[in-house]
Amino acid sequence: MMRLKEKVALITGAGSGIGRETARLFAAEGAQVVVVDINEEAAREVTAAIHHQGGSAIAVKADVSKAADCQAMVAAAEKQYGKLNVLMNNAGISHAEDNDAISTTEEVWDLTFAVNVKGVFFGCKYGIPALLRAGGGSIINVASFVARLGAATPQLAYTASKGAVLSMTRELAAIHARQNIRVNALCPGPLQTELLMKYLDTEEKRQRRLVHIPMGRFGQAKEIAYAALYLACDESSYVTGSEFLVDGGITAAYTTP
Ligand code: NAD
Repeated sequence: MMRLKEKVALITGAGSGIGRETARLFAAEGAQVVVVDINEEAAREVTAAIHHQGGSAIAVKADVSKAADCQAMVAAAEKQYGKLNVLMNNAGISHAEDNDAISTTEEVWDLTFAVNVKGVFFGCKYGIPALLRAGGGSIINVASFVARLGAATPQLAYTASKGAVLSMTRELAAIHARQNIRVNALCPGPLQTELLMKYLDTEEKRQRRLVHIPMGRFGQAKEIAYAALYLACDESSYVTGSEFLVDGGITAAYTTP
């Protein structure tokens, strides 16, 4: 049975990595997918791949740090498919010059927060009214295990931004629980995607990260997509306000009770 039959799902940052894999998986599970990305070409390619696999999708160009773009992406979903059931706030950046407090610039900090924090806020600001019009729904905010641990390789703005995603998720979950809207954070561990590999750009940096992962390997975007599928579909109907860690055991290995 298809797990997202008759659901409309909007995924930001769906032109690459986790978002792309999730868009393809959601479509294969019967969802009509709104593929949102700042990179229009990438969004179109993902949409074409979904059409090729027999699914339904549209591409929408939007910068999630811009209110008008987020309003327009939600409007596009409702115009094309008549409703919105699932909102996955996945778009995020990890700046190459994000470092410790001393060397991270204000520009890097502001840019990181504009996309990773304000982007989630805008997604919810315009997405929640649409979910309410549909009678409820599921919001998946993509955070990161670094919000739980503190990374060995410093990326202060990124880590702080993901902490904000976790606290927003808890409050949104509490506020909207009785409106049939579930809000969960998905915390991927280190994955073999462009975002992380651009940042861990030397073998030494990669090894410094790998040595801490109990499974001894980076994860694949597909492994996050399957967790997103669970949070998106009705099987997770009693799950809200949670932090779903999908990290190869890294957080468990370093968390004290
Ligand atoms: P990615 O770089 O492969 O994909 C991110 C996509 O977001 C790109 O297509 C990019 O064009 C798009 N994007 C960037 N800025 C945007 C904006 N302002 N508006 C709209 N789209 C924008 O990254 P990924 O690894 O798939 O990461 C997806 C999410 O997962 C991010 O929130 C990231 O922080 C999080 N995450 C990733 C990892 C990892 O190891 N890759 C680990 C933990 C969390």
